[in-house]
Amino acid sequence: MEIKPECNLSCPLKIDVEEFIGEIASGDYSNALKIIREKNPFPGITGRICPAYCENVCVRTKFDEPVAIRQLERFCADYEIEHFGSPQWDLSRDCPKNKKIAVIGAGISGLACSYGLLRKGYDVDIYDKLSKPGGMLAAAVPQYKLPREILFGEIQIIEKLDGKILLNRTIGEDIELTELRQKYDALFIAIGAGKTDELHIPGKNFDGVFTALDFLMKFNLGNLNTHISGSTKALVFGGNHKAITSARILRRLGAEVHLFLPDEMNELKNLEIQMAHEENIVVKSSIIPTAIFGENRKISAVRCVKIEKSNDNCKIKIIPIENSEFEEDGDIAVFSTIQKPDIESLGAQKYFDISSKNTFVIDTRTSQTNIYGVFAGGMCVNEHFDSISSMADGEKAAISIDKFLTGNENFQGEQSENEISQGIDENEIKKDDIAQIQRNRVKILEPCERENNFHEIEINFTEQQAENEAKRCIYKIFRSKKQKE
Ligand code: SF4
Repeated sequence: MEIKPECNLSCPLKIDVEEFIGEIASGDYSNALKIIREKNPFPGITGRICPAYCENVCVRTKFDEPVAIRQLERFCADYEIEHFGSPQWDLSRDCPKNKKIAVIGAGISGLACSYGLLRKGYDVDIYDKLSKPGGMLAAAVPQYKLPREILFGEIQIIEKLDGKILLNRTIGEDIELTELRQKYDALFIAIGAGKTDELHIPGKNFDGVFTALDFLMKFNLGNLNTHISGSTKALVFGGNHKAITSARILRRLGAEVHLFLPDEMNELKNLEIQMAHEENIVVKSSIIPTAIFGENRKISAVRCVKIEKSNDNCKIKIIPIENSEFEEDGDIAVFSTIQKPDIESLGAQKYFDISSKNTFVIDTRTSQTNIYGVFAGGMCVNEHFDSISSMADGEKAAISIDKFLTGNENFQGEQSENEISQGIDENEIKKDDIAQIQRNRVKILEPCERENNFHEIEINFTEQQAENEAKRCIYKIFRSKKQKE
């Protein structure tokens, strides 16, 4: 049985983390990137937005802090752009298979599946109803976290491999699903969870009222027809990423922003909330909205109430505190709501098995839906997926679709956990064995440098930092010990 360190095993894409880090430590950044790209065509994107499961399990944590794996991944991608001007992709493809696949959704799952299929020699057309590719990465992730030249720059690999991205095409309006199924040899549905739940409080139809996803999509895709300036007062309700991101965007546009969290400062979101504070956003906890008021069709205020939460037999109950209601004036209000896949607009409910959570039901071994030759993946199948898990799902579907189209009887997606399952035994490493280097920290823009602009907040490692950080990895020490045994 092959021994792989925990970081490798925990990465949804199964990137050979220990190998690429070893290359960085010896100064061969091109080779490091080549290793990353064997599993991940978008290192500049994931190097910025991945939750880095690999770092949560890094064995170095036993001694001090995990290796900064995500930032090392980003370092390699950015270094290449800085020194070569553009990504140096391997654009080789297998012999043409003369089969066509339609991918519905140009988000990270659809793109990852398309990349896998293009490399295997298939023709791929990607349909998306938005005006830009990237799905939620383009529509909901802020530029200060993921610059658009990185996002759209890496997505170009699809077109370089002769994939077609057809934007502003709504399935169910511009072309029917049944027509697509007839035209293509297989379909992959990866529509994500881009539909936002309605607001359930009175006054939702006043101008200036948005759900957080709606606000982010309108702003990021250039359709926000609401003027925001230094005299705008914005009220944002919710504690999830979308609400906090909306608040931080409104602040950058110059508004006075009040962010109302439903909980006490949430531990997980602490860093983002801390940054919101630094950016002069007024943050208040344990407050929810109950009604929206307006004049002349425009919002003027939101009625709020303070709450406390009780745990009743493992069920969290929200209890409004008596006499704590108040009204907060505002010119614009943003509310976080639940997101779900937009199955209805596809017209998919007529043909597909749909779960009670409004997601596609698939055979988890193959990613195939109940319709022959139609596959689905990403957040329209699993609402809890993040970008990196959705991407892995897309890659897995590409393997299945290839097997399906080549008549492979053992038609199953690749599951590698059973093939490689042993991690490093941390007890075999002693503190004296390891490089005594503290975790390197990237520079974060100062709050005053973030004012009124969308510059990327996190600055890349320098070469020196990257090499030092890579030397903190203990895998090589472990491997040489094993080899001596
Ligand atoms: S993609 Fe995410 S989990 Fe995988 S190695 Fe990179 S940072 Fe870690």
